[in-house]
Amino acid sequence: MARLVKKFGGTSVGDIGRIRNVAGRIKKAYDEGHEIAVVVSAMAGTTNKLIDFCRDASSLHDAREYDTVVAAGEQITVGLLAICLQEIGVPARSFLGWQVAIKTSSIHGSARIEEIEGAALEQCFKENRVAVVAGFQGIGADGRLTTLGRGGSDTSAVALAAALKADRCDIYTDVDGVYTTDPRIVPLARKLDGITYEEMLEMASLGAKVLQTRSVALAMKYGVRVCVLSSFEDVPGTLVAGEDEIMEQEVVTGIAYTSGEAKVTMVSVKDRPGKVAQIFAPLAATNINVDMIVQNISGDGASTDVTFTVPEEDLKRAVQVMEANKESIRYDHLLFDDNVVKLSVIGVGMRSHAGVAQLMFDTLADKGINIDVISTSEIKISVLIQADYTELAVRALHTAYGLDADKA
Ligand code: ASP
Ligand code: MG
Repeated sequence: MARLVKKFGGTSVGDIGRIRNVAGRIKKAYDEGHEIAVVVSAMAGTTNKLIDFCRDASSLHDAREYDTVVAAGEQITVGLLAICLQEIGVPARSFLGWQVAIKTSSIHGSARIEEIEGAALEQCFKENRVAVVAGFQGIGADGRLTTLGRGGSDTSAVALAAALKADRCDIYTDVDGVYTTDPRIVPLARKLDGITYEEMLEMASLGAKVLQTRSVALAMKYGVRVCVLSSFEDVPGTLVAGEDEIMEQEVVTGIAYTSGEAKVTMVSVKDRPGKVAQIFAPLAATNINVDMIVQNISGDGASTDVTFTVPEEDLKRAVQVMEANKESIRYDHLLFDDNVVKLSVIGVGMRSHAGVAQLMFDTLADKGINIDVISTSEIKISVLIQADYTELAVRALHTAYGLDADKA
């Protein structure tokens, strides 16, 4: 017997037929004798609709009332799922966030979970009932309803699994696991049996969007084993867990890409102590998040070029800020380009293997692809290239690192 938290996202509970399908899957696990808490999202599209209602009502709506409105979607699905479970003979009851209680900060619209009181759920398990818990919502210190931010029910599920010391947190979604790269551009992408928390964090924040990044960070912090599974097919998913549990496969686990960045180059900046600080201080002050940074050694000892990347949507503001500070920073001119893509190869195996970066550079060179910027961390190598080459580059790297699935 195990204690399991199972989370179903919006498409998995998109209509009554699908909710019945979810109930059937839960019944199977219940009949095997497991203790089960189910976390659900709102029906697909519902949260968007509720947000639109708030916007239509007032562009300056009270964030506390926004939470009261948008949390309603999950109230519907917990009730419906409990009904569908009872209908097929599984004793179940619904819980709203405050009934658990899932205690959060009072930052309405993007609250953080602070503490979960599990007593009501423990009692539910004792009575052999399935607990159906509303994701995405909690209760603030002010006693008001809160929501966790979009996609927050992944975080609800992981936090609940941590609080209940569950054996596993199963996240059912419309994909059947985590892939080596985006299967839409690499048909030979392979589903991974397992991936470490660290790798998943890199994959998630780089566009392989399967789990909300916050939920992965939480799972890592509390050592919650997370399994990503299809809610429609009964096939094995991908386990996200600590390094000790993940069998080492290839040196590189996956290849991610993100087109959401833009490159800025400041040409001919004086090569003096404090110059870089002067460039990045005004960016930080305007809340622009800088990702990659390159500064070369100057050939003549007098001036050098500094290149950095910012989120594409912040490019205009970044350029404005740089121009406004031209007098104090003292540089010649600016170049910028938003037609770039950041490619990353990711894998904990590269900590103990040499030559991983070399293979990336060789592969891109073979295809005649120019590298603009390079950055590395312990488990990741990223390069910035021209966006037009994204597919070619991802496919070539996927093959070069031995990630292609065997052709059937
Ligand atoms: N229903 C919420 C949303 O759409 C939470 C979730 O789906 O995870 O953001
Ligand atoms: Mg979701």
